Amino acid sequence: MTRLKILGKSWRLVRVPITRDKDDDAGLAFGKTNFQAGEIQISTVIRSPDQQLDTLIHEIVHVISTDLGLGLSESTVSALAAGLCGVILDNPRLFQAKAK
Ligand SMILES: [Zn+2]
Repeated sequence: MTRLKILGKSWRLVRVPITRDKDDDAGLAFGKTNFQAGEIQISTVIRSPDQQLDTLIHEIVHVISTDLGLGLSESTVSALAAGLCGVILDNPRLFQAKAK
């Protein structure tokens, strides 16, 4: 388990098998955010590091959208996540973790 901070709040990041909710009409989810538990889940079915990153950023954008009351649609969240993921992958040195 890893922790990350988004807008000052601490979140648990876990890799788990994600099952579809029975009332969920969306396709198979690769990521899920549980706001009550403060937990971001990334599906264990994802093997590609690039897809893991895209999924993580997607969930982070959901958290930011909710916490700031932006009301972003699922398609906007997906588009922003894909765009940001591309920038990070194309500029790896810019996004290396800061040494402590
Ligand atoms: Zn989503």
